[in-house]
Amino acid sequence: MNSKNFASQSITIAKFGGTSLADFHTMLRCAHIVKKDTSNRLVVVSASAGVTNYLVRLSKKNVSVKEQALIIAEISVIQFNITQHFTSKIKEPLNIEVHNLLNILSHYAHSQFNQYSAKTADKVLSFGEMFSSTIFTKVLQSIGVVCEYFDVQQVMKTNSYFGKAIVDEQLLKIACQQLLLPSLMNTVFVTQGFIGQDKLGNTTTLGRGGSDYSAALLAEALNGNRLAIWTDVVGIFTTDPKITSQAKAIKEISFGEAREMATLGAKILHPATLAPAMRNDISVFVGSSKEPEKGGTHIKHQVDYTPTYRSISHKREQTLVTIRSVTVLQQSTFLAKVFIILAKYELSADLVTTNEFSVALAFDNSENTIPTLLISTVVENLQEFFEVTVEHNLSLIAVIGNDLNNTKGIGQSVFGKINEINIRFISHGASTNNVCLLVKDKDTNQVIESLHDSLFSYMT
Ligand code: ADP
Ligand code: ASP
Ligand code: MG
Repeated sequence: MNSKNFASQSITIAKFGGTSLADFHTMLRCAHIVKKDTSNRLVVVSASAGVTNYLVRLSKKNVSVKEQALIIAEISVIQFNITQHFTSKIKEPLNIEVHNLLNILSHYAHSQFNQYSAKTADKVLSFGEMFSSTIFTKVLQSIGVVCEYFDVQQVMKTNSYFGKAIVDEQLLKIACQQLLLPSLMNTVFVTQGFIGQDKLGNTTTLGRGGSDYSAALLAEALNGNRLAIWTDVVGIFTTDPKITSQAKAIKEISFGEAREMATLGAKILHPATLAPAMRNDISVFVGSSKEPEKGGTHIKHQVDYTPTYRSISHKREQTLVTIRSVTVLQQSTFLAKVFIILAKYELSADLVTTNEFSVALAFDNSENTIPTLLISTVVENLQEFFEVTVEHNLSLIAVIGNDLNNTKGIGQSVFGKINEINIRFISHGASTNNVCLLVKDKDTNQVIESLHDSLFSYMT
């Protein structure tokens, strides 16, 4: 097929998450999803379930040689449990490839032990996607899909901010047009989510859960028409279905609503995923690789129905810093002084409430976001001027919807059912699309269940 035909061909970028690639049988199901729809041209994979968590442990400082060996053994069990299902013709060379990757991984783990670096940590973290993409290519080939392995580091060029690298979208586009697009109609490519490469050739990672984002960026760079996120639930729900069985699947949702959900903690999509799709009018589908026949959620620019209440998201590990002015500063001077200190450390708060002499700031302290050390440094600096209290182990719960600023009865609907709970913080008014609360971590599930009951029980 020549490049003239691209305009008429629909290009889908299909991303499969960790649970979808957990073992040989789940991989086979994903392979059939790819085969069934010939518009699937690029497949982006996460690491098999659990592998990145092992790699995170392996990438830390001071992991003993014994513990390293145990972790690597766990990872090899996961990988060889998958490869054992191939015929010996495929299995033997594939096992050699997996062994080689394991040896390289152990080399990096050892060097991390001798001298820790964030650079080596990212190298270690990248192995999950290296294993899964190598193996999944073989699964696809074994069912007759013409496909090739593609090293995403050739195109996903990033800065050197290890652990949360920023992608150079222009370089990505140029490299994709040169290296992938010309062959895309002849072969399906299988590549890694989550990882990239800096200018010096070092491997980088985009942050936990980043494969969704990789897939969206690749869809943009290839002028794709559709991004399909295949995961372990049949689409986006009114809240995390793991928290309440009352959660309802949403058939259609706007980009704005879905982005708000992802930003405010819905794990189903990495928060950065939707921006590239929105910019390029790429339709996004979220469905279950286990039950593809059940359909899923379509994310669109325009939807027929925009309900007042759409969903409830949550983020754990939030920290609330309350700052009180001890002198009688004018409020403007007080706030300015607080924010100058935050700016000095490039620390931004997710939520803010204030009155004349105090301000409360909520920070996301979860993995891969703001390091605890940074928050304590800023707190120490603030304490030179103000009275400061710090509360950890809070959860942010966000009710997401439409036109909430102009809706009557929010107080009753949102707070009516949770009056037994100590709400540490409320933010409403700055956005028409959400009401945010901070509660103690231990109350999270109860609050979500009660809110869900109050806001969504009308849905069948
Ligand atoms: P993957 O490995 O496929 O990327 P993730 O575990 O990252 O999968 O995301 C899927 C999970 O997101 C679901 O199993 C579910 O528990 C969680 N989740 C959180 N909020 C929602 C929501 N609103 N709708 C659906 N799933 C959600
Ligand atoms: N494997 C990576 C993680 O577990 C990226 C992803 O799954 O999206 O965070
Ligand atoms: Mg995910």
